[in-house]
Amino acid sequence: MNSFSFHNPTAILFGEGTLSKLGEQVGKFGKNVLLVYGGGSIKKSGLYDRVLEQLSSIGANVVELSGIEPNPRLTSVNKGIELCRNHQVDFILAVGGGSVIDASKAIAAGAKYDGDVWDFLDRKAAVQDALPIGTVLTLSATGSEMNGSSVITNWETNQKRGFGSPLVYPKFSILDPTLTYTVPRDQTVNGIVDIMSHVFEQYFSLTQDTPLQERLCESILQTMIENAEAVLENPENYAARANMMWCGTLALNGGLISVGMANDWASHGIEHEISAIYDIPHGAGLSIVFPSWMKYVYDARPDRFAQFAVRVWGIDPTGKSDEELALAGIEATRAFFTRIGAPATLSHYNIGRDQFDRMAEEAVRFGPIGSFKRLNKDDVKAIYELSL
Ligand code: NAP
Ligand code: FE
Repeated sequence: MNSFSFHNPTAILFGEGTLSKLGEQVGKFGKNVLLVYGGGSIKKSGLYDRVLEQLSSIGANVVELSGIEPNPRLTSVNKGIELCRNHQVDFILAVGGGSVIDASKAIAAGAKYDGDVWDFLDRKAAVQDALPIGTVLTLSATGSEMNGSSVITNWETNQKRGFGSPLVYPKFSILDPTLTYTVPRDQTVNGIVDIMSHVFEQYFSLTQDTPLQERLCESILQTMIENAEAVLENPENYAARANMMWCGTLALNGGLISVGMANDWASHGIEHEISAIYDIPHGAGLSIVFPSWMKYVYDARPDRFAQFAVRVWGIDPTGKSDEELALAGIEATRAFFTRIGAPATLSHYNIGRDQFDRMAEEAVRFGPIGSFKRLNKDDVKAIYELSL
């Protein structure tokens, strides 16, 4: 196990009815609030009115930024920064899924920076200061509600990039599973794949002697597998939505489940280049890419993949080599994603190989990616080929 430090400052208010604590939470940070949300799901569900009620109960002055896109765009972030400056905003409240939260983090950092906020995404500057943010989560997927990461797309250059900073962790996140009842089936599926992929990125590691971390990862994967079909069968199954929500938050919350382990994150990088150009949902892209990545890299450590097959998928190891088990585990992953209705190939979105060169080039823009197996441009291209 490697040495590590761990600090996660986000307060979590979990459970049905926790929205009633929103006013009190926001009130700790000031009166001028930027309310950030997406394309209207919160108005349709009635959540918008409930949030405004909470904000008016503390006499907040509310400025709104609506229309944050899935795969949030730099243009929206810049609008938010301008609103913060013009209205002396002292707190940003994100109500939505990962896209709304990620946009809010970039706004929070950009509002306190004199230069172009894209500098953070382009690794030209590090965040030195940020406005405080809080979230009301409406979709279980990214873990953005309890981490310091943000992913933004520059639609002019077709670049999708991430930045991370301890300064943009939400101060609090309200996690009420009933707020996810209205998430459509396809977005629920994307969320399941994203959550499981976050665990894969950490679990497939070359670091030795981390039995607790491995079991934490395996238990999240097992819990997701157990609950996925229940959530899809009945979107208003409280227990299943609650379990999925907590899995999503723990799967990517600053590394709790994988402290002391080298992480990979190549598949996320490979996926981001797809959605940067074709604007497909992140979880759908991961469903296509991750099993391809697994096939490409498993020989770096077949024993970890064999363990995955046995412990997560319950494959009987009797008489099987690590290699056979590894391949069976990868097949089981593919089959599960297909069973819940997630796409398996790029051709599902009519994506061919014409942009592969450019996508692979961008994926390794800052050098080879991944740690389980270091991947260069040709490796990334090969993974796109396996995903056709
Ligand atoms: P999302 O893009 O935030 O939301 C997807 C769609 O779901 C939107 O159309 C949204 O509609 C709808 N939706 C959300 N909640 C709903 C509800 N309760 N009822 C009905 N519809 C609802 O999805 P996401 O998967 O959470 O976020 C994806 C983004 O996060 C990607 O850009 C991805 O790259 C990034 N990401 C970030 C991290 C991180 O650590 N920060 C990790 C992984 C991925 P409305 O717009 O109308 O609300
Ligand atoms: Fe993700």
